[in-house]
Amino acid sequence: MTAGSWTDRLDRARAAASAAGIDALLVSPGADLRYLTGYDAHPLERLTCLVLPAGNAAGEPFLVVPALEKPAAEASPAGSLGIGITGWDETDDPYALVAARLPRALTRVALDNRMWAEKALAFRAALPGAEQVLAGQVLYGLRARKTPEEAEALRRAGQAIDRVHSRMGEWLRPGRTEREVARDIADAIIAEGHVRVDFVIVGSGPNGASPHHEVSDRVVEAGDPVVVDIGGTTEEGYCSDSTRVYALGEPPEEFLRLYEVLLRAQRAQTDAVRPGLRAHELDAIGRDVITEAGYGPYFIHRTGHGIGLESHEEPYIVAGNQLPLEPGMAFSVEPGIYLPGRYGARIEDIVICAEDGGERLNRTGRELVVLP
Ligand code: ZN
Ligand code: ZN
Repeated sequence: MTAGSWTDRLDRARAAASAAGIDALLVSPGADLRYLTGYDAHPLERLTCLVLPAGNAAGEPFLVVPALEKPAAEASPAGSLGIGITGWDETDDPYALVAARLPRALTRVALDNRMWAEKALAFRAALPGAEQVLAGQVLYGLRARKTPEEAEALRRAGQAIDRVHSRMGEWLRPGRTEREVARDIADAIIAEGHVRVDFVIVGSGPNGASPHHEVSDRVVEAGDPVVVDIGGTTEEGYCSDSTRVYALGEPPEEFLRLYEVLLRAQRAQTDAVRPGLRAHELDAIGRDVITEAGYGPYFIHRTGHGIGLESHEEPYIVAGNQLPLEPGMAFSVEPGIYLPGRYGARIEDIVICAEDGGERLNRTGRELVVLP
């Protein structure tokens, strides 16, 4: 990313905040701060906060950081955006410092949705006249529509996790525990191009029927279907997330039938992605296929979630969400069927909505992968 892209984001965030009647955005460490400034700050008890005046509060954005974090902040992309970086000393009150630099009469301030409660309450005390609202109403719409360079960063993340799935036969074998397999996968997630492992789910046999099962000491057996859902974060800060299902030898007959239904549903959904299709309609396209085949009650979660600097962000592909898809939106398409006590399956790709349809960022085969 270039300094220009962050400056552009700051401008767009400020305009969106003004339009929403917000006088200042207060953004603590996390994906919002990284999105706006490129600064991947540590979340600490000490206050780090981007202050972005908007609406009636004229003024330039500034970043307040603990003095000991100032060199790191200045070395980050935030250091070359021309925004002031103020270090505060151990005995200073950083909330009073922020309040003193904002106009007296603020009507409404927006806090990033992930701000720690102790910081939100300290801001309430320091800015007693201002109504507090969530900054997500302003920032999440911007973050959901990826720029071409963000799409490129997500593509690289997708390729990195695909390389891990392509190597699954090296680790997934009967006689090993889920935990042993997961440890090898985690190492490979780093080796293939991430700086952080976000999650490793290895759900073998009946454990595959629990969508958020992580790992256990269960020994993987011949004939088991195994759900492997993995993701990490790249150095650029973008997340990967892909699920494939593996069978160790010949899986049960009914599992093959179930898998064929699931594959049909997931394909129908990824093929259907286009601008203007509503999130709930995309959810229904897969759910209908699964319901018609008799597995409706076993598809127990939404179809997907947005992805970017966080592995779960807007838009959510779920019943009731009227949001129309727009070019640049990136999200998972991950229908699943889970038969309690027996087995489960989920197929997950990240898809970017483009002008002319959906682009799948995960390109490993979606068919059941039979390993010896
Ligand atoms: Zn996943
Ligand atoms: Zn996912």
